[in-house]
Amino acid sequence: MNQINTGESRFFSLEYFPPREQAGRERLVATTKQLLEMDPAYISVTYGAGGSTREGTEETVQMISALGCEAVPHLACMGSQPKDVIEILDNYRAKGIRNIVALRGDLPSGMGLADSPLRYATDLVRLIREHAGDWFSVKVAAYPEMHPQADSFDEDLDNFVAKVDAGADMAITQYFYNADAYWDFVDRAQAKGVNIPIVAGIMPITNYTKLARFSKMCGAELPRWIAKRLESYGDDVQSILAFGHDVVTRLCDDLRRHGAPGIHFYTLNQAEPALKIWRALQAKYIAKN
Ligand code: FAD
Repeated sequence: MNQINTGESRFFSLEYFPPREQAGRERLVATTKQLLEMDPAYISVTYGAGGSTREGTEETVQMISALGCEAVPHLACMGSQPKDVIEILDNYRAKGIRNIVALRGDLPSGMGLADSPLRYATDLVRLIREHAGDWFSVKVAAYPEMHPQADSFDEDLDNFVAKVDAGADMAITQYFYNADAYWDFVDRAQAKGVNIPIVAGIMPITNYTKLARFSKMCGAELPRWIAKRLESYGDDVQSILAFGHDVVTRLCDDLRRHGAPGIHFYTLNQAEPALKIWRALQAKYIAKN
């Protein structure tokens, strides 16, 4: 039994992307078997906006379910027609899937917002509720450091609140390394009446160049001291992994101790980084209790 999972629900969840190749699919089965040691609440699977990974997402969801773990497909509405979304929902419902992560997704190149009948994640949440009632538990994205396309924190928060009011049951944040940004977001959302769990999205640190590039794209801040330390290790992978592990373990421990409702690891389909952090958290938890 997972010691940290002593509350009403399990504390950790995981995220995958659907592998493109057969070898990747086989590796992900092995990865999942390793990660089940964490007893995750669920494993979610991303979805390429415009439907580019529709089959891959469904296959990965099936693989996770077959291994006895709750599988949660993401669904991004940008560029999709409502009838296609409804078909996907009906398919998941027929397979007994009860949870979905509802997203806008990012614009396929060449497409403007006006071209899409489902413009925002709020439209998708509304469609899911209209079509499937309470069958699905609906999770949505949250941005403690503000969505990169938003004009202001206040507008972004109001849009988040509207998404929750449309029927979301849980939010998962974009990853962050600054816990204050997370708590500030939670406080401001709660002050606006949001009372669903806002689970902290956590990205293990394994590669400085990729992380720096991705953080720039998705508007997640890589604090200067972390960037400088990682940069100073150059090609020394072991030092990057060791430093990254310490930083992220401390962040997760801090979040848990201060009452975050859960931690969602962006695994990038790798078992070791998340598992190592989880084991360190278990050891800290057991030592203190
Ligand atoms: P929204 O909540 O619709 O917000 C997008 C922007 O529009 C924000 O700036 C918001 O302030 C603004 N906005 C919202 N409503 C309105 C309105 N009514 N009027 C004006 N502005 C408005 N992407 C994928 O393609 N596939 C995935 O599987 C995927 N999984 C993700 C999982 C998590 C946990 C997170 C945090 C992100 C994920 N993403 C994924 C990325 C996400 O799709 C992008 O960040 C996307 O740009 C926004 O999606 P959203 O659902 O947050 O959009």
